[in-house]
Amino acid sequence: MSIVVIGSLNMDMVVRAERAPEAGETLFGQGFALSPGGKGANQAVAAARLGADVTMIGRVGKDAFGNGLLEIMQQEQIHTEYISRSESQATGVASIVVDGAGENRIIVVPGANVEMTPEDIEALEFVIAQARIVVMQLETDLAMCGAAAAIASRHGIPVILNPAPARPLGDELLRHVTYLTPNETEAGILAGITVESIDDAERAARILLQKGVQHIIVTLGSKGALIVNAAGSLHVPGFPVHAVDTVAAGDSFNGALAWQLTRGKTLDEAVRFANAVGALAVGKAGAISSLPRLDEVEQFLQ
Ligand code: ADP
Repeated sequence: MSIVVIGSLNMDMVVRAERAPEAGETLFGQGFALSPGGKGANQAVAAARLGADVTMIGRVGKDAFGNGLLEIMQQEQIHTEYISRSESQATGVASIVVDGAGENRIIVVPGANVEMTPEDIEALEFVIAQARIVVMQLETDLAMCGAAAAIASRHGIPVILNPAPARPLGDELLRHVTYLTPNETEAGILAGITVESIDDAERAARILLQKGVQHIIVTLGSKGALIVNAAGSLHVPGFPVHAVDTVAAGDSFNGALAWQLTRGKTLDEAVRFANAVGALAVGKAGAISSLPRLDEVEQFLQ
């Protein structure tokens, strides 16, 4: 067992229509697609496609979407035995309407994703204890995330926390985080300052370092990422690509970072590799469908 991802699994229901309906109105749409998502699932698949041995901890409902997500995770060779099924909550869904101008209207119903409690994760301590690295995001219950980070820290296992979507985080949780990977907006929210430049990102990261996080990696979109830790700061530039859509860019970055760190790469090397994976993901449409395999990344880096 090398990477344990603790996080969300959602089914995205995407409807294409000329425009969004008004209240009380029914429209014909132009297309419909179901696609697996949720930051946890995306990050797990990103790492698994590179060749990582990934175990996912999460929860889905006892419904068709839950069955579908488990099947997709299994097809990606992810261990799913610790993805539990809720007795009362439906699988997390995102209802997405994309209009003729490409504008999205999204409602997320987290359902089973937010049902896992600190007690539930404590019962899985033996799974976390076997990990080489633990990866989390914030689409699940915050107290559960805190308990998971504390367990990992107790066992000396590094934790990557991708603080998305941004929420205020207690210092107790941050103290257990080895690698915090906000994007610029999230870094600004967590540090309580506006981040509009790489210098601002560094300022935000330094504020977060004070809270006990060991390494902050601020992802900077096309500009790559900034590493800030006690040793100093390093800007690792991104790779120029034609961006098709940026869905799952951050998720692919986190999955790749985790995998590289379990392979004993230095943080600088791991971030450079994760930048390449992020660039490849923005070069393709979709979330899971855009996540590259190892041979694609190796070819890209040649
Ligand atoms: P998020 O998707 O969480 O908002 P970012 O936009 O910072 O995060 O993207 C995450 C990573 O994906 C970046 O650090 C970079 O490596 C890569 N990336 C994102 N957008 C681009 C782009 N337009 N060109 C090249 N790489 C990109």
